[in-house]
Amino acid sequence: MTTLQVTGLTGGTRSLEADTLERFTGDLDGVLARQGDDAYAEATSIWNGMIARRPAAVVRAASTEDVVRTVNFARENEVELSIRGGGHNIAGLSLSDGGLTLDMSQLRTVHVDSDRGLARVAAGCTLGDVDRATQEHGLAATLGFVSATGVAGLTLGGGFGYLTRRFGWTIDDLEEVEIVTADGCVRRASRSENEALFWALRGGGGNFGVVTEFVYRLHEVGPQVTGGLIAWPAARAEEVVNTFRQIAESAPRELTLVAVRRNAPPAPWVPQELHGTPIVIIVVCHSGTPHEAAADLAPLRALGDPIADLVMVKDYAVQQTLLDATQPKGNHYYWKSEFVAGLSDELIETYHAQFVDQKAPANQIVLFQVDGALNEHPEDDGAMGNRDAGFACVVQSMWTPDSSAADANREWVRDAWNALKRFSTGGNYVNFQTDDEPEERTAQSYRDNLGRLREVKDRYDPTNLFRVNRNIRG
Ligand SMILES: Cc1cc2nc3c(=O)[nH]c(=O)nc-3n(C[C@H](O)[C@H](O)[C@H](O)COP(=O)(O)OP(=O)(O)OC[C@H]3O[C@@H](n4cnc5c(N)ncnc54)[C@H](O)[C@@H]3O)c2cc1C
Repeated sequence: MTTLQVTGLTGGTRSLEADTLERFTGDLDGVLARQGDDAYAEATSIWNGMIARRPAAVVRAASTEDVVRTVNFARENEVELSIRGGGHNIAGLSLSDGGLTLDMSQLRTVHVDSDRGLARVAAGCTLGDVDRATQEHGLAATLGFVSATGVAGLTLGGGFGYLTRRFGWTIDDLEEVEIVTADGCVRRASRSENEALFWALRGGGGNFGVVTEFVYRLHEVGPQVTGGLIAWPAARAEEVVNTFRQIAESAPRELTLVAVRRNAPPAPWVPQELHGTPIVIIVVCHSGTPHEAAADLAPLRALGDPIADLVMVKDYAVQQTLLDATQPKGNHYYWKSEFVAGLSDELIETYHAQFVDQKAPANQIVLFQVDGALNEHPEDDGAMGNRDAGFACVVQSMWTPDSSAADANREWVRDAWNALKRFSTGGNYVNFQTDDEPEERTAQSYRDNLGRLREVKDRYDPTNLFRVNRNIRG
């Protein structure tokens, strides 16, 4: 083994001697991978292809003991450390640039205790791993819309999905975690043990340590739901979005709707002559009975003449993969988002206006309905807060690595977001923040919970060992 040059905890470069590295790797159950190794290539291949960070080395953890060893090693040798879950963070926060990346992606067990309605989930799991295991028992936790996303990053940032209207943020389903803190101790945290730490982990991201296990409260869902999407030409956008709003205002919590304005993808469900033309899509998930779903969706269907109506009774686990193909790994992504309380006429007018002359193939503005159960908790029930959110408004851009439209796409996202942000509650989702968002955006995510979060950070991570994240130290 040769000497390794690494990024130091507070910047600069440090040299790790061969014997230091040998002692460390000799103890590992997993492996230390360097550039050129297959494990390095796999671990550093993340969803947003725009991220250019290259860690000096990757530790592929095979056990909680490996996590303890890596945390101790990084702290004692003052090496910058990042934590990789599903690698889906848009800002690429799973990778240290020049430091050490702790890759949790090999730890993927899910144990479902259907009698107690709980799932114990290892921190390297994807959403798909968990949905498949829990749905075998007709159970589900509230997880997000794309199955390859990591449970760790999603949960630690708050988390939302089709079940949020019924059960709240993902952190509202979180019962307990196992975590390795900066001092190398393995701790459990819950509402009755290390309560302050548990409160902070419910939204505070990777600031407090490496979570090795999540325990979720499960709910009876499915196994079949009514889900899919209905699309119309953009000429119908005003009446479609008005109907979307009207249903959203009175819908039972079993129904979640998502409005999307974009140009039609070259998908099999879109007639070829409409590929690339502006459309409006309503994504649907109804976890009540098919009869209830038919009644609740009737106003949408009454609009008539869609380009496609793909809403049908299907497995919930399949619904949870509906949008996977729209977010392929390796493309370049740039987003901006805000939480909004409701959909005023002015907001909807602004929403439509952003699409005039929009030619990019995959740019979109999305309105995810999230209101319901989460609004019933006090703002300080977990660090995530944002209990006044009704919709997540997300301006999204995607392009292929060889595209020359990167600057134009980024500019469009910023312009559309600038137009829409006056409707914000003042809060935004920390998990949707891109690499270029300034520190105050993170502060805005936590609003009044920030001070308490920083106190917990001072207690459990006084040297800010866990800093490759949306850092709250300020
Ligand atoms: C296509 C796509 C769809 C999405 N859809 C949704 C959605 O429907 N709902 C939603 O809520 N969010 C959604 N997100 C956002 C998602 O929650 C975040 O991107 C999240 O960070 C992804 O988690 P990850 O584990 O894959 O991230 P990674 O990139 O692996 O990690 C991100 C950060 O999480 C922290 N982290 C990861 N693992 C651990 C750990 N074991 N212990 C401590 N900290 C850790 C680290 O700080 C790391 O820097 C989506 C993202 C994408 C790309």
